[in-house]
Amino acid sequence: MTKISEIYHTKSSPVLSFEIFPPKKESGITSLYQTLDEVNPQKMGVDYISVTYGAGGSGDNTMTRDLAQYIQTHFGVTALHHLTGVNQTPESLRDNLAKIKQAGIENILALRGDLPDSDYVNADYPYAKDLICDIKQASTFNIGAAIYPEGHVDNPITGISVAGIKEKIASGTDFLISQFFFENDVYYHMQEALKNNYIKVPVSAGVMPIISKAQVERMTYMIGSSLPARLVKMIHKYENNSDDLKKAGIEYALEQIQDLLDHGVDGIHLYAMNRPNVLKSMLPIINQEIESKHF
Ligand code: FAD
Repeated sequence: MTKISEIYHTKSSPVLSFEIFPPKKESGITSLYQTLDEVNPQKMGVDYISVTYGAGGSGDNTMTRDLAQYIQTHFGVTALHHLTGVNQTPESLRDNLAKIKQAGIENILALRGDLPDSDYVNADYPYAKDLICDIKQASTFNIGAAIYPEGHVDNPITGISVAGIKEKIASGTDFLISQFFFENDVYYHMQEALKNNYIKVPVSAGVMPIISKAQVERMTYMIGSSLPARLVKMIHKYENNSDDLKKAGIEYALEQIQDLLDHGVDGIHLYAMNRPNVLKSMLPIINQEIESKHF
């Protein structure tokens, strides 16, 4: 399958991708396969699909690999296998990399992962850069990493950490995916900072359509994303009507995407929470938007 950095370098229009997460129980895998069948990513112009690892309470990380393999063999779409450094040892990493390779996967999103508690330290892989370094030295995987336009929630400094990104790139990062944000200006400030520091690694802008009030509360608490006044008003207006809130949330995300495309982003990465209807309603509009811009 294709290396993702090659997609960024060869495609003239922005790269389109979305994230899925494995179900909590193995029995949920069939319905997730159905979800993907419904979305039909290849027909929808999706360049790659990323599959989370150990996030959202899923205890079985072999499902990440199974899902990534299914995406490639069933749809012919490139998969991006997330991998975290939390609870990883050099031996478990070697074992994981061998199994991922055997499954025909060539792309890894290397992350530190969320710490199980505030005292937790993994001396082998304290930061994502350490995991990235070992993956690069041991293999030929194409490596992606996370970037935070508003800063990382554990870090008291707001805004992007240029030094942190430089470390990730020096360790072997080939492309970046941003945390989602609801105010495009924070992304444009980040783009400016990268440009001023001669950082040319491709970056996809993360966009999360809001589909429920509980989702916004959970995500902003965990991630620390700021909510623009317009979005807060929208959530209040529709908080008792879930269908209207979902519709307004999708419209807000599509407006964000239109503006991001106008600002020449390298790619759009959708956090659509395994919702086929959200993806089915957004992807054709995004494709139309990309086509109309004649990149
Ligand atoms: P790092 O880059 O290591 O940063 C972690 C913290 O350490 C930051 O506060 C940073 O400022 C600080 N730091 C970094 N380097 C240094 C240094 N040299 N010295 C001092 N401080 C430093 N989590 C999952 O569990 N599974 C997933 O599948 C998953 N997918 C994700 C996908 C994307 C696109 C994003 C944006 C996040 C994802 N996450 C996932 C969440 C991620 O694991 C957490 O945000 C985690 O807390 C940080 O991961 P990182 O790779 O950015 O870590």
